[in-house]
Amino acid sequence: MEYKTNITFRKEVLTKLLNEVILNESEIIDALYFDFKKPAFEAVITETSYVISELKATIKNLKSWSKPKRVFPSLLNFPSTDYIYKEPYGKVLIISPWNYPFQLALCPLISAFAAGNQVVLKPSELTPKTSEVIAKIIAKVFHKTEVSVIEGGVEVSQKLLSERWDYIFFTGSVAVGKIVAKAAAINLTPTTLELGGKSPCIIDETANLKLAAKRIVWGKFINAGQTCIAPDYILIQKNMKSHFVDYLKEEITKAYGENPADSPDFARIVNSKNCERLISLIDPKKVIFGGQTDLENCYIAPTLIEETSLETELMKDEIFGPILPVLTYEKETDIEAVISRYEKPLAFYIFTENKVFSKNMIQKYSFGGGCVNDTIIHILNNRLPFGGVGHSGIGAYHGILSFDTFSHKKSIVKKSNLLDLPIRYAPYKNKLATIKKLLNWL
Ligand code: NAD
Repeated sequence: MEYKTNITFRKEVLTKLLNEVILNESEIIDALYFDFKKPAFEAVITETSYVISELKATIKNLKSWSKPKRVFPSLLNFPSTDYIYKEPYGKVLIISPWNYPFQLALCPLISAFAAGNQVVLKPSELTPKTSEVIAKIIAKVFHKTEVSVIEGGVEVSQKLLSERWDYIFFTGSVAVGKIVAKAAAINLTPTTLELGGKSPCIIDETANLKLAAKRIVWGKFINAGQTCIAPDYILIQKNMKSHFVDYLKEEITKAYGENPADSPDFARIVNSKNCERLISLIDPKKVIFGGQTDLENCYIAPTLIEETSLETELMKDEIFGPILPVLTYEKETDIEAVISRYEKPLAFYIFTENKVFSKNMIQKYSFGGGCVNDTIIHILNNRLPFGGVGHSGIGAYHGILSFDTFSHKKSIVKKSNLLDLPIRYAPYKNKLATIKKLLNWL
């Protein structure tokens, strides 16, 4: 199969895909609006332009990424030249979620194909219009033996998982991640699991509160809070809370107006089932801002909750919606008590001017990735690996790491025949002292 070995061919097909995405950009934006009223601005910055820049970077770097990489040889093998060859795994299954349905389906697909694999993509059934556009674009660009899209829901996904694959790349919830891992284990199939978690946002007394509020409101309410790396909850120094909540209210109103339901810049919840789940998490007695809901139209206003307990449903699992609990701490041990209650999160945000504080937080807690004094933006640098740890995921991707994710690294030592030191060969008599000295020296 040509795509397996021919880099020029892969680049040509990816260029065709790039042109097709550009050509169909408005259809993609419309589909995203149809599926959950994603604002066009957000559709461009988080979906289409994201995929376009991923495609451009892949096309530009494909040749160098795929070249065998020469590494420094071991003196034990002297004389030799040593290489890492990257080879495609073979048949790759990609299962993607609905919250960034275009980007999270296309980005792994681009890298898997770029690395020479045969790809089957199962996009989310919860954003059917976007999945339909994806299927149409892919069918136009690729031969179905190279890349194909299989639309459908849980049963289709389960059927695909029951087959044998050489690599599975899954993005979605922790619960389904475990199902994928189980299915993969049967054939010892390697996996990347891009999952979620309860990502904290910690604010100390030195933080620039106004700017923090602005950046948190942006990162939390973009995509109506349905972002895997959205701040899940705020943990703020007790004395700063009331001041900070005022800033949060101000920034929400600035961004979405007095009635966010009328704002063209605020998305809807993906379906009524998820909307119902989110509504049930709101305790009206604890609402300090927002709280308006409209199940029929899958609307939940940006909502702030004053939270004092970790026992509530709201503080049990990842919220994944426009509800932001605000909790407080007094001492660093209070922070530890909260963070340690949860599995390792996908993201972690620290707002502070105190370098020692941020350094301590980064070193003390384990999490996928994060920011100091901002939210979400670590995803934008494709030189930074993106992925979770523990229950928030296995593996990471973006940039060259995506290409590497879908490539098996084959180690090759090319040994010279010019010299053949006899010391390693039996009989070993009288050789032990010399080899020990040599190993010590090396
Ligand atoms: P989901 O796990 O419900 O679904 C993801 C995919 O799995 C879909 O294609 C779906 O059809 C399939 N699926 C669902 N149930 C299945 C089952 N029982 N067996 C086999 N396949 C099944 O996730 P979602 O609701 O689409 O997305 C939300 C979750 O994804 C959140 O937890 C979020 O944090 C996470 N997420 C993570 C990232 C990341 O990059 N780490 C990105 C986006 C979303």
